[in-house]
Amino acid sequence: MSREALSHEQRDQVKKIADALYQRGPGMAFTGAGISTESGIPDYRGPNGLWSRQNPTYFRDFLADPAVRLRYWERRRARYPVLAAAEPNEGHRALARLQRAGFLDVIVTQNVDGLHQKAGSPPDRVIELHGTAHLIRCLSCEARWPAESFDPGPPGTIPSCPWCGGLVKEATVAFGEPVPRKLLEQALALAEATPVMLVVGTSLAVVPAAHVPRRAARSGAFVAIINDEPTPLDREAHIVVRGQAGVTLAYLAALLTGDQLEAEQQLPIR
Ligand SMILES: [Zn+2]
Repeated sequence: MSREALSHEQRDQVKKIADALYQRGPGMAFTGAGISTESGIPDYRGPNGLWSRQNPTYFRDFLADPAVRLRYWERRRARYPVLAAAEPNEGHRALARLQRAGFLDVIVTQNVDGLHQKAGSPPDRVIELHGTAHLIRCLSCEARWPAESFDPGPPGTIPSCPWCGGLVKEATVAFGEPVPRKLLEQALALAEATPVMLVVGTSLAVVPAAHVPRRAARSGAFVAIINDEPTPLDREAHIVVRGQAGVTLAYLAALLTGDQLEAEQQLPIR
């Protein structure tokens, strides 16, 4: 993906977000697939996403049908190495930098790629609402293994739990599988209390995750949205930046944690 320059209008909008974080922060961030596409991770739900081209796996089918489990594990064997090798981009790094500088507290993410933590965000300050692809879990005994130490066996086989024989899958929330209640309640409580909500790279189409930024809006937070397409929350947002996550967040972080000159010099002026 090529890096776009920010227009004068976009820069003015980002400056207003910086002002809000400076005056009212620390805020929180809510992120989706759009922040990771620049790291080469496909947007599973976007128009070019893998799920648009291949049938998604529904949780009830995974439980009921060995053929679905076989297909799931064939895909996982093919996809996971791409995800494991992905590197965080300037957007992830900018959010980590804002956390270190005290302008952002928690990041709530719908992504399962672990790139916020890989970029330096403290693991206890990242809430992964949809779980993580870097862990495998047993659906029966809840045993968990790091993905790199779990051997799924050769292609054409379906792995099972070595302790209890139960079904295993990656520790992500599949279609039709509930978001862990405690995690969701924690994210909603933080959203209710946050003075600034920064929404990045998500079209807010997936519930209940999308309730998190909405809760912040309803509770009076300053809401800023950085996304390349419209979202249902745009009308309630104070600032909407239509653009790439990476360059926009890099500019925001430079404004707040560098000096103005560094921020201006970083970017070509369009
Ligand atoms: Zn088990």
